[in-house]
Amino acid sequence: SLKGKIAVITGSNSGIGLGVARELARAGADVVINSFTDNKEDHDLAAEIGKEHGVTARYIQADMSKPDQCRALIEKAGACDILVNNAGIQHVAPIEEFPTEKWDAIIAINLSSAFHTTAAALPMMRKAGWGRVVNIASAHGLTASPYKSAYIAAKHGIVGLSKTVALETAKEPITANAICPGYVLTPLVEAQIPDTAKKYDMTEEEAKQKVILERQPSKEFATVEQIGGTTVFLCSPAADQITGTTISVDGGWTAL
Ligand code: NAD
Repeated sequence: SLKGKIAVITGSNSGIGLGVARELARAGADVVINSFTDNKEDHDLAAEIGKEHGVTARYIQADMSKPDQCRALIEKAGACDILVNNAGIQHVAPIEEFPTEKWDAIIAINLSSAFHTTAAALPMMRKAGWGRVVNIASAHGLTASPYKSAYIAAKHGIVGLSKTVALETAKEPITANAICPGYVLTPLVEAQIPDTAKKYDMTEEEAKQKVILERQPSKEFATVEQIGGTTVFLCSPAADQITGTTISVDGGWTAL
């Protein structure tokens, strides 16, 4: 059980981050939910998770595109035994048309935020004598596709960052790994369906099956519960010697 552990999950008011937060809470961890918004629903969501699993669940607003706010998130949490760097955005365009602001935002949110939160969290993990860094990378942290230059650069980057953190903590009871999901049906992916359907002149259902899941041999989306369960596994004693590596949850994508 993760009872007594405090988990901070960045970008966790929706999608994979929310699924990971729910599974960590189910395993007994106290959780900090985060996004850049500060709505009543955000705080209600934390209260609901806390109530459902009998753990302390808080919502802390912080914009992961801002280095000082990344560090402030960890400071406000007060302790961080489990750090899940999940916040991420996507933009699809050929390199020569890729807006510089989008490149900068993707690198900041999908990659640099993890550098800042990790730098702030490691001293707390060392003080506690235990820690887990789980970075939500992607199959696109291991392979590429056209038109996703910033996302793929950031995801390959976070895989490299995970390995470096693992080496810097290798002699301590701290591990750092990256989970590499294939396609998971979340708002981030749903938002790509209409454009994909339009581009290939297909229905949205055909776009899902023939285009989006084209590279996922299982032809099924992974679920947020599976990504959450993999995170819980990385926090279990069975994973004490698993560090500096990637775990793919991609229906065979990277085996192709
Ligand atoms: P999502 O859009 O549902 O969730 C993204 C989360 O990040 C949201 O909670 C959002 O509020 C938050 N966020 C965005 N910008 C932020 C900012 N500036 N500061 C703080 N929080 C911010 O998307 P998702 O599919 O759940 O993606 C979560 C992570 O999983 C991302 O890193 C994504 O790259 C990765 N991933 C997703 C898939 C997939 O198929 N869905 C596959 C591989 C990897």
